[in-house]
Amino acid sequence: MTHIQTTTHLKAFRYRLRPTRAQEAALNEQLRLCRNLYNCALQERRDAYRKAGKTVTGYDQMKYLTEIKAALPEYKGVYSQVLQDVLKRLDKAFKAFFRRVKAGQTPGYPRFQGQDRYDSICYPQSGFSVSEKTAYFSKIGNIRIRLHRPLEGKVKTATITRDCGEWYVSYVCEVEAQPLPETGSSVGVDVGTTWFCITSDGEFVENPRHFQTAMKKLRVAQRAVARKRNKRSNRRRKAVQRVAKLHRKISRQRLDFHHKAAAKLIRENDLIAHEDLNVSGMGRGNLARSIHDVGWGQFFSLLSQKAEWAARKVVRVDPRYTSQRCNACGHTCRENRASQSRFRCVACGHVNNADLNAARNILGRAVPSGINVAVVNASVA
Ligand SMILES: [Zn+2]
Repeated sequence: MTHIQTTTHLKAFRYRLRPTRAQEAALNEQLRLCRNLYNCALQERRDAYRKAGKTVTGYDQMKYLTEIKAALPEYKGVYSQVLQDVLKRLDKAFKAFFRRVKAGQTPGYPRFQGQDRYDSICYPQSGFSVSEKTAYFSKIGNIRIRLHRPLEGKVKTATITRDCGEWYVSYVCEVEAQPLPETGSSVGVDVGTTWFCITSDGEFVENPRHFQTAMKKLRVAQRAVARKRNKRSNRRRKAVQRVAKLHRKISRQRLDFHHKAAAKLIRENDLIAHEDLNVSGMGRGNLARSIHDVGWGQFFSLLSQKAEWAARKVVRVDPRYTSQRCNACGHTCRENRASQSRFRCVACGHVNNADLNAARNILGRAVPSGINVAVVNASVA
């Protein structure tokens, strides 16, 4: 028998908010103030760095918040921890920037946030509460909400987001893991551009059709924007809104699909192996792939999240040559790929679907002793 420890993890619950006109105005004003603070703090850090070679930290800047409130009373209308969170965000952006510089990359300097880019405020600890029908936020008040699914665990943070004119709140909660019973099976997953993914069990998962339809609509809408040359016209503004709405719809559909696909894999397997995108991204230089990489990144992160909740195991493997290696005899060469979809080993004559062959290689790298090893221990050590 295996021991399963109780572990906690963070889970986000997102709900639509229905603010009144006055509340919406207040929310927009808070976003404006926070964006302004972000940009000013960014300016200060830039100036200090350029003029004196000094680094101003988020911690340094937080000490000024009292002064800011004294000089600009409108900032008293924003919950103090929300303001601190703005500076923490900036600090995070800088830390990520410096980390990448250190790693020898050339990242973009943290950017000033435009009106449309800054669209959320976060209550990182307190100043909010929620019941069945109302969500309370300090300095804003009680906003109408409907909890279409119940909150679980202990609520840690609340983030209000503006999304194409609609308002949402996302509560991050600490919940206990709920380990699933072991299934005795392991699976390798190969993601592709033709299929969403192919498993080593021979399952070909299609990209959802409604998603393709939405993509087509999006392309039409994008063309409509491009045709309207007058940047100030009302028609153009409406067309731009339509594109934004379609984008939102598509990303929701994609997220929903990713949730379901990941949940199925987690339910059915103790161990799931997939390619490590950090390795596969290198040197492929294929645009279609890099666009898909973004989506796969989301899918894989959902997968590992769910794995953690359910005490399953996810293994990322180096994907190099998984598409050229024969799963039957191990012979690896480019000529094995008879075509985009067909694999035919030049050494042993093994014939298979190319993606299925790759999925089996991916599983083989995670579980070197073979496929569907029942002894894989998937529980939390
Ligand atoms: Zn072979």
